[in-house]
Amino acid sequence: MRRMPSGSSVAVNRMFRDHPLATPLGLALVGIALVGLYFFVMDAASTHAGIHVGVLSSSLMLGLGMVMLLVGALTLPIGLVTVARRRANPVRLHCPACGYQSGASSSRFRVQRLGGLEYSSVTCPQCTWQFTVDKYAHLH
Ligand SMILES: [Zn+2]
Repeated sequence: MRRMPSGSSVAVNRMFRDHPLATPLGLALVGIALVGLYFFVMDAASTHAGIHVGVLSSSLMLGLGMVMLLVGALTLPIGLVTVARRRANPVRLHCPACGYQSGASSSRFRVQRLGGLEYSSVTCPQCTWQFTVDKYAHLH
């Protein structure tokens, strides 16, 4: 039995794969902003007696900020490794029909990203054969 991932975790996962550095950095920044806002609001509430802050909403804000900051900090190294690995292993396109290779001449493979799928559609410049490659591969 395989547990199906929930819709939101699939969306976050896809966002992370598309933007391996921007996603953790964005999470961490929003987390810092929430934590900062919490201390700002608490400070304002302690100096100005007129401001009343709900304990539940403020601690919820602090908790959410801490979680986002933590998730961002934990996933940032994974994002760095992901980017480094994609850079280090460029995929050399190779047509399965006629054997034409990318990088050999000026004629290039036409790569088309397929929305929502994990693959890119590639068209051979020599024989117009179409095949698919991993969408996230760093193409040569
Ligand atoms: Zn070909």
